[in-house]
Amino acid sequence: MLLDNKTAVVTGAGRGIGRGIALALAKEKCNVVVSDLDLKNCQSVVAELKKLGVEALAVKCDVSKKSSVADLFKKAAKTFGKIDILVNNAGIFPFVPFEKMTEADWDKVIDVNLKSIFLCSQAAVKVMPIGGKIINISSIASFVGFEGLVHYCASKGGVNGLIRALALELAPKKITVNAVAPGAIETPGASKASTPDSVKQTIAMIPLSRMGKPEDIAGATVFLASDMASYITGQVIVVDGGWTLR
Ligand code: NAP
Repeated sequence: MLLDNKTAVVTGAGRGIGRGIALALAKEKCNVVVSDLDLKNCQSVVAELKKLGVEALAVKCDVSKKSSVADLFKKAAKTFGKIDILVNNAGIFPFVPFEKMTEADWDKVIDVNLKSIFLCSQAAVKVMPIGGKIINISSIASFVGFEGLVHYCASKGGVNGLIRALALELAPKKITVNAVAPGAIETPGASKASTPDSVKQTIAMIPLSRMGKPEDIAGATVFLASDMASYITGQVIVVDGGWTLR
């Protein structure tokens, strides 16, 4: 197994891509701390993980709040002693036209999608051994523009910038910092913002002619979390079925 005796914290893991990543890590025998705003969702993912024969812990956490993040890593370290892998996945993508965007809309997206990575990574590094891995879920919105998502595109561009600097600072500890940039992935969050027609239009733009699944993002994440990727740092892997090739 790729991740025997490792422990991971995955944020926003109560559903969608985060849940898919938690399941894929557990299939490689990694213990997982499942954190999200919704504790009930975390507990049901933990039950799924335990059936795969790993240890798992549910912790409610708002990744945009320093005190909540501190509590998450305190509980994680108390239970598992160390955190080998951090997956910064929690994120929001509320569509708001630029001219109607409020300061509160802007701050919320930047806090949940970008400040969270600063807070969680800083807390994780304190309990992360040599050879640890930090993986951030960015987006193709860090490379191309989407109407109604000015704040979101800025936050994900920020993620790609952050990882390059953090990768340099953590290199002496042999901790790698990378990102996965998904294209259009079928998740509860994405389906709230789509209609059958918009899904058809999206698929028409994807060379591999299908929406992505959480498992597609989980595959790249497990690779980056494993020692197969020990010499990769500060990089963004695009997983979008070829959408951004044109
Ligand atoms: P999702 O289905 O909405 O799941 C995201 C999870 O994060 C939800 O359980 C949500 O909780 C949680 N969350 C939201 N705010 C949080 C906070 N402040 N603290 C902790 N957890 C919080 O979304 P997804 O599609 O799986 O997206 C996961 C990540 O992939 C995000 O970073 C997103 O930007 C990125 N991404 C997704 C796509 C896509 O097409 N789906 C494409 C590119 C990138 P609540 O339900 O309680 O809000």
